[in-house]
Amino acid sequence: MGLWSTWVELKNNIRDFWWKEMTQMHDNIVGLDASILMHPKVWEASGHISNFTDPMVDCKVCKSRFRSDQIDLSAPCQNCGSKDSFTEPRNFNLMFSTHMGSVQDSSSVVYLRPETAQGIYADFKNVVQSSRVKIPFGIAQVGKSFRNEITTKNFIFRSCEFEQMEMQYFVKPGEDETWFDFWKEQRMAFYHKMGINPESLRWHKHGDDELAFYAKDAYDIQFLFPMGWQELEGVHNRTNYDLTQHQTFSGKDLSYLDQETNERYVPYVVETSAGLTRNVLMALSDAYEEEKLPDGDTRTVLHFHPKIAPITVAVLPLVKKDGISEKAQKLEKELREDFATFYDQSGAIGRRYRRMDEIGTPYCVTLDYQTLTDTQ
Ligand code: ATP
Repeated sequence: MGLWSTWVELKNNIRDFWWKEMTQMHDNIVGLDASILMHPKVWEASGHISNFTDPMVDCKVCKSRFRSDQIDLSAPCQNCGSKDSFTEPRNFNLMFSTHMGSVQDSSSVVYLRPETAQGIYADFKNVVQSSRVKIPFGIAQVGKSFRNEITTKNFIFRSCEFEQMEMQYFVKPGEDETWFDFWKEQRMAFYHKMGINPESLRWHKHGDDELAFYAKDAYDIQFLFPMGWQELEGVHNRTNYDLTQHQTFSGKDLSYLDQETNERYVPYVVETSAGLTRNVLMALSDAYEEEKLPDGDTRTVLHFHPKIAPITVAVLPLVKKDGISEKAQKLEKELREDFATFYDQSGAIGRRYRRMDEIGTPYCVTLDYQTLTDTQ
């Protein structure tokens, strides 16, 4: 499944908004575009080869497959209603693998990245050596990730191929808690700035059963999706676990020298990890309204913030004649330079406004006979 037309624009706008907010609006965050296929040792170091698993069960009767941590194993099968029909839970690794090179044996196995973060850790030293960043600083990346999910459902909420927007912020050990609080605040403010209803957003703190063994603290931002409260983004204090692991497995020193104090340390990492495709679903769900009309009919309206709306301005000449449509076309061409525009001259003006409301266009400009007089 993919996104097309207007929804690609929506996705790109969310991505661009995130990129601006997370890189250009800060003095010390740089971008990265790491590769999807990396040396398999990266995934050994990160723990993904041994630990990136979900527990799965099968119904012995209808063969449906479920994540055992997402269903009640003592209840009947959701699909066929059979009782006591589940297999014992088994761990299933979520990484897709393929082969690099012409020989397909165990030594040529490579993995499609299941998260973008590890590319950032693997490139940490390159960034420190080639750009003039000083701790604290961040590396941001947007890109595809792949997970062989046991159950994909709810449209684009969970898919096997999706996009993530991740930022890893490298800090001095001891200052991690302050930065963790800082990024928590920033990330919630981001969604408010995007125009998302604050009442549909909340924090969920990871309990001991959810917290990764190396993580010091972790919170999810949850959104009230049509199917209930679900994770949208994670903010994690990952300590110096990842860099230490990569240091061990690569044999390369990944410590950082603070040139002012002459201290050397392996930085702690505060991570903000958001799903881009999941953000698209959130933005759509948040914007969606079924408006009741006085005549009893309902119509669909999308209320997008202008920052993310697929079309920002529509230009609608009231009539096609008397030079009005020419003027409107000229205006639309001018606006194109700075905005995502749309020109529509077909049908009644009310209907054209409706079409724009339906896809969440925040501004519509109508040109009429008065315009001709005003702009003479
Ligand atoms: P879950 O527990 O739901 O499987 P997770 O906690 O493993 O997710 P993370 O590894 O923290 O998720 O990934 C960060 C973000 O990436 C998530 O908050 C989510 O927005 C997005 N994400 C993760 N898996 C998927 C997926 N299969 N499809 C779409 N987005 C995803």
